[in-house]
Amino acid sequence: LTSESLWWAEYAWLGGARTTADVLIEVKGEHLAAVTGGVSTPPDGAVRLQGLTLPGLANAHSHAFHRALRARTHDRRGTFWSWRDLMYGLVERLDPDQYRRLARAVFAEMVVAGFTAVGEFHYLHHGPGGAPYADPNDMGRALMEAAEAAGIRLTLLDTCYLAGGFETELQGPQLRFGDGDAERWAERVARLQPTEKVRLGAAVHSVRAVPAGAIAEVAAWTAERGWPLHAHVSEQMAEQQDCLRYAGATPLQVLAASGAVDSRFTAVHGTHFSPDDVALLGRLGAGCCLCPTTERDLGDGVGPAPDLRGAQVDVSIGTDSHAVIDGFEEARAIELNCRLEDERRGILEPADLMTSATTSGMGALGWDAGVIAPGKLADFVTISLDSLRTAGADPGSVATAVFAASAADVDVVVIGGRQVVERGSHLDIPDLGPELAKSVSALWS
Ligand SMILES: [Zn+2]
Repeated sequence: LTSESLWWAEYAWLGGARTTADVLIEVKGEHLAAVTGGVSTPPDGAVRLQGLTLPGLANAHSHAFHRALRARTHDRRGTFWSWRDLMYGLVERLDPDQYRRLARAVFAEMVVAGFTAVGEFHYLHHGPGGAPYADPNDMGRALMEAAEAAGIRLTLLDTCYLAGGFETELQGPQLRFGDGDAERWAERVARLQPTEKVRLGAAVHSVRAVPAGAIAEVAAWTAERGWPLHAHVSEQMAEQQDCLRYAGATPLQVLAASGAVDSRFTAVHGTHFSPDDVALLGRLGAGCCLCPTTERDLGDGVGPAPDLRGAQVDVSIGTDSHAVIDGFEEARAIELNCRLEDERRGILEPADLMTSATTSGMGALGWDAGVIAPGKLADFVTISLDSLRTAGADPGSVATAVFAASAADVDVVVIGGRQVVERGSHLDIPDLGPELAKSVSALWS
């Protein structure tokens, strides 16, 4: 039996610079069956969506446990290294039960922010000292269960992480990340099974953490399965320079030479890409995920968004370390950072920024969603147009979503035809604030 439902949106963004008024959205099962603008009277039985309805947002880069670090890394002003020390402290303490509780709350925070899919770049695989759990995928399964409980689509990007740096072994807390070699990584990952809401994908942590030969093995293994493949690339200038020194090539060139870069590939960050890197990414049809709120928190720099656009690279967004979980803030930060850097306005179109937050991210994670159109997955979110932030902005322009709205304005979230958020509250996890506080503070007591 396929369930059917009818929704009527006061305004909906169907692509382009303008929104459409009075849109009837017909859902069959998990998918959109029909989308019709200009239906001035909602038919009987249609659920009214008051405000501006957008495709579900996609969070293409997440490390769920980093949420526990929010605002806790700024003592004595906080350097990159003090952030990393605290992050490794967490890595030493987390167990599968704590991780399931924390990730459930973090994924639910994403859902109420309007994200309907997340790519979890998951590298915390094993117990303390690197000892495998009885089920060697205990941590990955904790994330899968957490996503199911939060109602979000998950692409579990199981991450290969083998070394502490160029010619450096894993040490201390990093031992929990390692499978020894690419073959044992693949053996473990092969034991995972996808579900309706959980897709599988893979990641190479970085060219520092995975030797070139192992990158080639991971790339070949994921190519056979048609899985998305992600990697951290050129996040900090030191990484770019070290890689040139050790490998005589940029990180992206190393990945491309290992066969990792094609249309299934997403480079995460790309902050310090050379012009040749950007051209290479475009030529090979790969994407790039920018994480501006994390990149600014860590002092990484500003990614080359206009150049990526020029090279026809699909740019997606990720909340990465979760200093902030707000897809609207990520989208506008791409443009606003460029304005600060270039000392001029109007570098990217608002519609392009919204596409980054929706369509491009869904593509990077392997979901046929991110557009309100027949045949796509029925994921959509409605933002209020009468909040203190959005009131008075033009409901006819997508710029209202990109430049006025925040995560707090998300009123309704529908994932696969099922309503998950009503009046800004998660229907299955109504006490989300206390849940987050409890699961985070348990890790610091
Ligand atoms: Zn990351």
